[in-house]
Amino acid sequence: MAIVHRLLRSAAAAFSPAAAAARRGLSALAAEQTLERNVQWVFLGCPGVGKGTYASRLSQLVGVPHIATGDLVREELASSGPLSQQLAEIVNQGKLVSDEIIIDLLSKRLERGETKGESGFILDGFPRTVGQAEILEGVTEIDLVVNLKLREDVLLEKCLGRRTCSQCGGNFNIASINAEEGNGKPRICMPPLLPPANCMSKLITRADDTEEVVKKRLHIYNEMSRPVEEFYRKRGKLLEFDLPGGIPESWPKLLQALNIEDHDDKQCAVA
Ligand code: AMP
Repeated sequence: MAIVHRLLRSAAAAFSPAAAAARRGLSALAAEQTLERNVQWVFLGCPGVGKGTYASRLSQLVGVPHIATGDLVREELASSGPLSQQLAEIVNQGKLVSDEIIIDLLSKRLERGETKGESGFILDGFPRTVGQAEILEGVTEIDLVVNLKLREDVLLEKCLGRRTCSQCGGNFNIASINAEEGNGKPRICMPPLLPPANCMSKLITRADDTEEVVKKRLHIYNEMSRPVEEFYRKRGKLLEFDLPGGIPESWPKLLQALNIEDHDDKQCAVA
């Protein structure tokens, strides 16, 4: 994986037409590192669909890090570093951070992981533009792209119900969703995922999970990120997965779609 973050970094430093030729040359180098490595998967899907939930569970099962670029952005925001003010304005308006900043944050994360001996990854929230997908393709091979899908009205309810415990970092959802079938949409029931009593008083809501900003993020997803689905569809890497409901219903079906077995204590992946 060492080469991935180095190449991502050089791509971030080279956002110019002249760099395009250099990027083409990178694919040859990337080919050398696909042998003998852990899975390199991507999770796509609208805000609130559950990328973080399922990517994080799968990462534990297959033994690779779950890397969410949204988390990297929020860490940078919280650090009060030089970028934090600029990032706060972008994120709180539901807009996308520039490809250059995101790739810089991601390559630093991969570098930190490499020093800890990490290999492989499940990326969540990256790539979000075709430009990011092209850069990623230029530096490494992605084995599989899982596209999680859910009705848009349910996505909004889910985002508005999201809560995080400011102490333990646990993610919860207080929304009780019961969306009726109609207009070709399937019925979706999702019970709330309530926090334990000791987290109850410490729950916080993301600043970008307001109705106005979630609608903006969904609009931006349709404009900027939907084409990324097509990018991977054309390459035969896209696995479409319609979430049938909450975690108890969806998790076993997702594992089945991925051909992964989850034994309680002996976890085995056959992807
Ligand atoms: P998320 O937690 O994935 O919803 O991401 C939160 C916010 O971080 C997004 O609304 C964007 O402002 C920013 N962000 C995360 N990943 C990316 C990305 N790959 N490209 C651009 N902006 C991103």
